[in-house]
Amino acid sequence: MDKNTRICIIGAGPAGLSAGMYLEQKGYDNYTILERNDHVGGKCHSPHYNGRRYEMGAIMGVPSYYAVHDVEEFCGITHDGPQLNRNYKDKTGKVIEPFEPKKNLTKIPRLLKMKSEVKKLGEILETKYKGYDVNGHRGVAQGRYDGYAVTPEREPVSGINENLKDLALPFKEFCEKNGVELTQDIWIGPFTSFGYGYFDEIPAAYVLKYLDFQTCMNFVKINLWTWKEGTQYIWECLNDKLKNHARLNSNITKIERKDGKVYVTVNGETEEFDKLIVTAPLQYFPDYADAREDEKKYFSKIEYERYDVLAVETEPENHPEISYYVFDNMTPERLGHLMVYYRRWRDTKDQVITTYALRKHKNSEEIPYEVCKQTVLNDLKTMHNPASNVVNEQSWYYFPHVFTEDYAAGWYDDVEAMQGKYDTFYAGEVMSFGDMDETAEYSRELVERFF
Ligand SMILES: Cc1cc2nc3c(=O)[nH]c(=O)nc-3n(C[C@H](O)[C@H](O)[C@H](O)COP(=O)(O)OP(=O)(O)OC[C@H]3O[C@@H](n4cnc5c(N)ncnc54)[C@H](O)[C@@H]3O)c2cc1C
Repeated sequence: MDKNTRICIIGAGPAGLSAGMYLEQKGYDNYTILERNDHVGGKCHSPHYNGRRYEMGAIMGVPSYYAVHDVEEFCGITHDGPQLNRNYKDKTGKVIEPFEPKKNLTKIPRLLKMKSEVKKLGEILETKYKGYDVNGHRGVAQGRYDGYAVTPEREPVSGINENLKDLALPFKEFCEKNGVELTQDIWIGPFTSFGYGYFDEIPAAYVLKYLDFQTCMNFVKINLWTWKEGTQYIWECLNDKLKNHARLNSNITKIERKDGKVYVTVNGETEEFDKLIVTAPLQYFPDYADAREDEKKYFSKIEYERYDVLAVETEPENHPEISYYVFDNMTPERLGHLMVYYRRWRDTKDQVITTYALRKHKNSEEIPYEVCKQTVLNDLKTMHNPASNVVNEQSWYYFPHVFTEDYAAGWYDDVEAMQGKYDTFYAGEVMSFGDMDETAEYSRELVERFF
C-alpha cells in the first residue's frame, strides 16, 4: 500500500493508539485518530484521588503482554505499579483459603483431582489443541489456526487441527468433554470476576486465548504487572509520543464510503480519507456509517457484558486488609453480587476501593443498574468493609463477543474475509479478546497483514 495512504482510525483506546504506533513504525505517517471522549485510553481509565491514580477500568498485565511491552519500549516507560495481592471470602464475609489443603481437610481429594486436571489441561492444550493460543480467531471454527505465536518474536504460525472446533463450545462443556471440569475452579477467578461472563455461556476460545495456560499460571502465582500512574498512563504516553496525536472530542455523525474514498463527517466537517480502521464497538458502526448488508448482519450478532465498577471510600477501620475474591458470587445464580474488590494501595487507607459485578447472563433478565449497585453496597457490609461514600461509578460496555452458535458457524472467518472490502478494517476487542494486550496485538497483526 502507498505509504501516503490517508488512514482514519476511530477510537483512541489501546487498539486505536497501537494501530497508530504500528502504522508509524511501518512508515505510514498519514493517519488520523478520532476519539469521541475528552481523554485517551478507552477502558484503561485511571482517575485521580487524594494525589494518586486508581483504576476504574483495566488494572493489570502479565509478562506475555508483548504488544503492551512494545508500547512501553516505544514510550520509555515500565510497569512500576503496586504489587497485587489477594485473599478469599465466602458470601457470608468469612475469610477462607479454598486452595489450602490444611484448611480444607475434607476437600483434599477434590484439590488433588483439581491439581491433576490442571496438569492434564496444560498437556492437551499443547497437543490435542495445538494452535489454540494464537491471537485472534481466524480458522478456528474450521479446525485451523492462523496467526502469530505468543512469543516475543511473534513468528507467523498456521496449521490444520480439527480439534480446535471444540473451542466454539461453552468453556464448561469444553471442560466436561475433556474430563477437566475442576480446572474451572482456577480459571474462574481471572475470568468471571474480571467481567468476562460465565463458563456455561462463553465459548472456550475466548477463555483459553486470554487465559492460555501460561497466563493462567501467572495469575495463580500473582506474577502480574501494574502501573503506578494507572493503565491509562500507558496510552497517554503513547498518544504523546505519536506523530499525530488523537483528536479528542471528535463527534462522528456520518461515514460514507464511495469510489474508493472514505468520507468522515466529524464535528460538522467532512474529511476525505483512503482507508478506515474501526476500533470502536462494531455493533454501533451502522448508527453513523453507511453499513452494508453483510456488516449489519454480522455486527448485529455481537453481545457484550454489563460490568459495573464502583469506587468507594471507607472509614479507616472498615478498610479491607487486602483485595478479596468472592467465589460464591461468581455463579449465574448470584448475578449482580460483588465478585471481587480491589485495594490498590497497601500503604494507606485514604484511597478508594473498587468493586466489580456482572448483571447480565445469556439466559436471564438483565439486572437494573441501581439494583446491582445496592446489592454490591450491601455485600460490602456483609464483607465487613462497608462503604462510606461512592466517589465514582461506571457501567462499562464490556467484552464484546459472539456466542457458540455464531462462533461455530464461522462468524470470525466471515468477518475476516470482509477486512478491507469497503476500504474498511475492523479491529478492537471483538476481533480478538477484551483485554488491552490482545486488542493492541490484533492491531499489530492488522497492520502487518494489510498495510
Ligand atoms: C473494569 C475493567 C477492568 C479491566 N481489567 C483489565 C485488566 O486488568 N487487564 C487488561 O489487559 N484489560 C482489562 N480490561 C479490558 C481493557 O481495558 C480493554 O479490553 C481495552 O481497553 C480494549 O481496548 P480497545 O481500544 O479495543 O477498546 P476501548 O478501550 O473500549 O477503546 C475504544 C475507544 O473508542 C472510543 N469510541 C467509541 N465509539 C466512538 C466513536 N463513535 N467515535 C470516536 N471514538 C469512539 C471510546 O471512547 C474509546 O476511547 C478491563 C476493562 C474494564 C472496564
